[in-house]
Amino acid sequence: MSNIDPSDRTKGFLKKNLETLPHKKRIEYLNQKLRGIIQYAYKHSTAFKEKMESVGLKPKDIQTIKDLEKIPITKKADLVDLQKKNPPFGGFEGVPISELRRIYISPGPIHEPGEMEYNELGWAQGMYASGFRPGDIVINTFSYHMVPFALHMVDNSLHRIGCIVIPTGVGNTEQQVHILKTFKTTGFCGTPSFLLNIAEKAEEMGLDLKKDLNLQVGFVAAEMLPESLRTKLEEKFGMVIRQTYGTADIGCLGYECLKKNGMHIPDDKIVEIVDPSTGKQLGPGKTGEIVATSFNKVYPLIRFGTGDLSILTETPCPCGRTSPRLIKILGRVDQVTKVRGLFVHPGQVDEVASRYPQIEKYQVVVTRKEDRDEMTFRIELKKDAPRTEALKEEIEKTIRDVVKVRGEVEFLSEGSIPEGAKKIDDQRSWE
Ligand SMILES: [Zn+2]
Repeated sequence: MSNIDPSDRTKGFLKKNLETLPHKKRIEYLNQKLRGIIQYAYKHSTAFKEKMESVGLKPKDIQTIKDLEKIPITKKADLVDLQKKNPPFGGFEGVPISELRRIYISPGPIHEPGEMEYNELGWAQGMYASGFRPGDIVINTFSYHMVPFALHMVDNSLHRIGCIVIPTGVGNTEQQVHILKTFKTTGFCGTPSFLLNIAEKAEEMGLDLKKDLNLQVGFVAAEMLPESLRTKLEEKFGMVIRQTYGTADIGCLGYECLKKNGMHIPDDKIVEIVDPSTGKQLGPGKTGEIVATSFNKVYPLIRFGTGDLSILTETPCPCGRTSPRLIKILGRVDQVTKVRGLFVHPGQVDEVASRYPQIEKYQVVVTRKEDRDEMTFRIELKKDAPRTEALKEEIEKTIRDVVKVRGEVEFLSEGSIPEGAKKIDDQRSWE
């Protein structure tokens, strides 16, 4: 059995001096790191230098996070294009290839330089905040092949904390269960759906998940984690599960603490929330694209556009960490529609529907009538659910609360919304 006292899992920080910095000091710290990486990248990354020159910028023009707005955003598709033109890394690398330890290949394909000494802080901060401690025996069930996540990021971060890693990779569910049992494994890293597979397999094998296995902490990523699934898994195993967010290109961009209060931004990244159409920073409370800047000299991605949507909050978190947080991931930028000047995204539509168990199927349709946008929530109710005027009004009120745009509810008969219909169907024409 693990000799880690459960109460130790709830205390402390991986990097207390950084994680508890007062707001103003944090901004000063990040601005200073930013100036450093801008100078470095301008000198060593040809892609970054060209990007700066394309808009007439010199490193001295970027002094603060606010100045980042002047630099054009680099998208994943740009990485693919530039790598094709200038292989293998498109000029984004900040060191000669001879100084790399590994080269990773992600779908796209995108080539990623793997540094000799892995120093990224974010994933390890997230694991620590989730309760991982030195001495934990952990199965890492992310794929170790080709991509950087399992081998580079997760494995190194577990090592940094002092955990013992069993590099099981993905699949072989029955063997994974044996490994959990044999080593009294205390930690899980992987996708929530794979942890569910393991739970089902272990039950099928006649095991008691709490008595026969010893999972205590889980660090999940790469998939959405519905609260219902989290609760189910936490109860089945008697463990704590926290999620994290990031990309294989730039690393960790957010992690949950035990307070489950959004995702703290790690201290080695700058995360902006921007208007996807202008690239301008939106500040806390507004929905926009997550754009991130890394201080990694081997792969200095500056203003990398993730294509994911979120909202930033700076309200204090009771865990004591002072970094801003991303309030969950709300969907993809390319699924967003603007209605009466406000962004509407599928995550909000789901949020409205999730509050009414009697809703079977739903879709939002945006139309234009007399030069005005109209938004209609088309809803199919479950068979026995009554279609009342009161329910219609209640849902319309929820739409105003969640989406911030007025929308009309229309109840439809069963089968009216086709399978595979777009969640937000924008039917406006602009001729
Ligand atoms: Zn917190």
